[in-house]
Amino acid sequence: MSLLDLGASVLLVHAHPDDETISTGALIAEMIERGIRVSLLTASRGERGEVVPGPLSGLEGTAALTTAREEELQRAAAALGVSERFWLGEPPARAAGLAPRRYRDSGMTWIRPGLAGPADDVDDDALAIAPLHEVVADVAALILALRPALVISYDSGGGYGHPDHVRTHVAALAACGIVGTPLAEILHDRADDGEWFALDRHLATVTAALRCHASQLTVDGSDIVHSGGQREPITTSIGLRVLRVQNGCPPRRAVQAKGGLIEE
Ligand SMILES: [Zn+2]
Repeated sequence: MSLLDLGASVLLVHAHPDDETISTGALIAEMIERGIRVSLLTASRGERGEVVPGPLSGLEGTAALTTAREEELQRAAAALGVSERFWLGEPPARAAGLAPRRYRDSGMTWIRPGLAGPADDVDDDALAIAPLHEVVADVAALILALRPALVISYDSGGGYGHPDHVRTHVAALAACGIVGTPLAEILHDRADDGEWFALDRHLATVTAALRCHASQLTVDGSDIVHSGGQREPITTSIGLRVLRVQNGCPPRRAVQAKGGLIEE
C-alpha cells in the first residue's frame, strides 16, 4: 500500500515560505490530484531570507520582506492546490491558553557548500531557540485540530542543515509522538525502507509555484537559481519514509544555546 493511501488528509510541516514548493511541490500536486486534503503549516515568514538581485533586492532585511514572503507563500500554495494553510504560533497551530506569537526565521550561514549551520546573530524570538516544548505543543495543537492521517516534514538533518529545518523536524516528530500520528520524513534519494515518487508530470505546476517565490529564487530552464546564485535542478521526485514515533512527552530538558539547541 502506498503511504498516500493512508487516509484522506495530510499535513505538511515546513520552516519557511518556499520550502513547501522546493522540496515537496510535486508531492503536494500529486496528493491534490489523488483527492487528498493537503494542509500546510509554515513555522516562520522567512524574514531573514536573502533576496535575489534586481528590483526586489531592496526588500532584504526589511519588514516589507515579511509581507512579501507571506504573499508569495499564499500564491505558491494556491498554485500547488494546497487546501488550507497555517502559521505556527497562531490558532489553531497554537497551544491552548497561550497568546498567539510568531516564530522568526533563525537565519543560517554556510558551513560548507550544501551544509548550513546557525547564524551567529539569532533573534530572541527565533524558531531555533524558542522553547522546544512550546514549539511541540503548537504543532501538536494543529495535528489535534486537523487529525491528518499522515504528517510530512524534513529528515533529521533538515534537508541541508538549516537550523529551522532541523528544529521543525524535531518538533514534528515529538508532536506526532504525543498525538499518535505517523510522521514521514522527506527523502532526497531512494531508500530501501522508503517509498519513492517520480512525479515529472507535475513539473509545470511546480515551476509555476516556484515563480511565486520571486524574492528568493528565479527559475532558469529546469534549474532553480537561489538568491546567492546557487543552482539546483527543480525537484519532482521525492521519497517518504515513516519514522518510528515515540509515544509520550517531548524531550523534558532542552539546553538552549545561541543559534542551536542541545537536548539532554
Ligand atoms: Zn527553509
